[in-house]
Amino acid sequence: MLALRAARLFDGHNAALISDATVLVAEGRILAVRSGGGTPDRAEVVELGDVTLLPGLIDAHLHLGFDASADPVDRLTTASDDELLAGMRKAARTALAAGVTTVRDLGDRDYLALRLRTEYAADPASGPQVLAAGPPITITGGHCWFLGGQADGVAGVRAAVRTHAERGVDVIKIMASGGELTPGTHSHQAQYSTAELRAAVEEAHRLGLPVTAHAHAADAITNAVAAGVDSLEHCTFMTPDGIEDRPDLVEAIATAGITVSLTLGIRPGTVPPPRIAARLAGLSDHFQRLRVAGIPLVCTTDAGIGPPKPHDILPHAVTMMVERVGNSTLDALRAVTSLPARLCRIDDHKGRLAPGYDADILAVAGNPLTDPAALLDVRAVYRHGQRAH
Ligand SMILES: [Zn+2]
Repeated sequence: MLALRAARLFDGHNAALISDATVLVAEGRILAVRSGGGTPDRAEVVELGDVTLLPGLIDAHLHLGFDASADPVDRLTTASDDELLAGMRKAARTALAAGVTTVRDLGDRDYLALRLRTEYAADPASGPQVLAAGPPITITGGHCWFLGGQADGVAGVRAAVRTHAERGVDVIKIMASGGELTPGTHSHQAQYSTAELRAAVEEAHRLGLPVTAHAHAADAITNAVAAGVDSLEHCTFMTPDGIEDRPDLVEAIATAGITVSLTLGIRPGTVPPPRIAARLAGLSDHFQRLRVAGIPLVCTTDAGIGPPKPHDILPHAVTMMVERVGNSTLDALRAVTSLPARLCRIDDHKGRLAPGYDADILAVAGNPLTDPAALLDVRAVYRHGQRAH
């Protein structure tokens, strides 16, 4: 048995920190969370000192197969499976070292992230828990078509969802609009009709899988909301030259109870692509409108898609959520712990520090509730009860 001792503990939800905290861990699970010492005689006590313990972070939208270089698509599409897997392991380890103990890969090639899921399940301390979508479902020639998930029409989309389910994915990712990464597609244009998206949702839900839609354009978001998706990625309301103000659509998302995954985080010293850079102020205002409308906002990253987004960018995304979206530090911390756990349907064992939960635990110097930048000062990472960093 392990007894982790720390000055403070954030359990993933409650505003009140536990002071002088002790977490008892055995066989990869949390046995107890207490204030004060008094550890069992047989426990191995680890004094972590003036740190805050919190649940290992969850990045519910990244890409292990994109290497965060200036041309990640070229590398991903030309690498052999072994080369790509080596890069994906490196990306996963980078995330883990930053305290990201669960990653949801929302677009790989050839379902390779599922292989990492298997590897890390057998040896949890070697990598984060992996959840994966496989190749995103997209129209022929559509956004990220090169990942191999092309499907057209209601029948084609249904068949693609079934194939993904047979391969064992954790979530269905569908490209409702074009995207910034794919020449010839446009973020401000919808790709699928409501009928096609509804077919994907019906088939996925029948098979017990959630659906998340990549959606920038208001038209694509309108279709995805009507189709009943579980969550929206990006949700930027992008137009050819700006960001649309559509209170009706914001209201529709809120009423439907759909979670929005804000892909935030920019590595200091880098600049986002011009079309994003030009819209940063507008996006900030737009995301604040989503927050004020009461839409559940999960803090994610899209890590891997370019130099501004290395695989350990999530702590920067938390700071951005506080500074640019206007979330409280408490809500921003929930948005990388308990909230994405619920979104990913793993909230019975991830995203909280509580008895029975997985011992995926992050220790950071200082207090992230008063200063989110504390997340950048990682002192220890435990994965399934084992020291992983
Ligand atoms: Zn993405």
